[in-house]
Amino acid sequence: MDESKLVPKSSVNRALNALGDRWSLLMIHQSFLGTTRFEEFHSLCNIPRSTLSNRLKALRANNIFALQPKPDGLQRQGYHLTDCGEALFGAVLLSWAWGIRWGMVSKGMPTSIVHTGCGKPMLPVMACDHCQERVSVTSCRREAGPGSGMENLEVKRVHRRRHAATESYAAELVDLLGDRWTGMVIGTQYFGIRRFDAMQSYLNIASNILADRLKALESTGIFERCLYELVPPRYEYRLTTKGAALFPHALSLMLWADEWLADIKGPPLLVHHQPCGHVLGASVVCGECGEVLTADTIVPRLQPRT
Ligand SMILES: [Zn+2]
Ligand SMILES: [Zn+2]
Repeated sequence: MDESKLVPKSSVNRALNALGDRWSLLMIHQSFLGTTRFEEFHSLCNIPRSTLSNRLKALRANNIFALQPKPDGLQRQGYHLTDCGEALFGAVLLSWAWGIRWGMVSKGMPTSIVHTGCGKPMLPVMACDHCQERVSVTSCRREAGPGSGMENLEVKRVHRRRHAATESYAAELVDLLGDRWTGMVIGTQYFGIRRFDAMQSYLNIASNILADRLKALESTGIFERCLYELVPPRYEYRLTTKGAALFPHALSLMLWADEWLADIKGPPLLVHHQPCGHVLGASVVCGECGEVLTADTIVPRLQPRT
């Protein structure tokens, strides 16, 4: 059953609501790899047909996919990314890079990406548009934006499943990134909220759901639990290096939602890049040569399918 909660406005939540669940994220990844047909999505993502058909409908309703006839004029249509969908390119690259860096990749995902500009295999990184320095959780300062406040969020209950390693493309990664509460719990760190009670009151979240997500974040090495009081033992949670490395991905979703799903008041959150002091505008660039990456300047290398 879904539920509705009053939570702080967040463009990342808005993005995740438009993108949908783990299945939709898989489909968007596959779409960037050239998949357009129902049958291809079905076999590559291992999605049950009825689920696939629902998710395709939702992605079209959210203006991420559009049905387009094939250029040869034949009747067969394919699902293509709209301009709004294509603008997710940076976020998709960053989530892939994070998966590669931490060994959370599986069948169907590129094993490396070559940038044709410099000819090297590379990991994409996020760079500030003003000063070209890399963007990280410690180089950004956050403050409430003109659109800040509270809003009702429909939180879909995600039943996190355990997958066999070969069952599904990037299952572990998208399970993690596709779960609303997980994203919101990670987000509390960006505001220095580290203790259970403070997280619970900030997010208005049930204690069993929070405990469950914290356990998952600890077991996947995104959070570490540190004692701050010995008797009785009390803990706070901090981002590990692996967890902090997710920040550019969250930021790219936020910037995408600020551009494509903004409400009339403007962004809920303003992020300033400390080295240059500007409100952050950022691009995803080649980690080797620093050039901005585009779909036609990268070559993904795929694992052979067995
Ligand atoms: Zn900057
Ligand atoms: Zn390059």
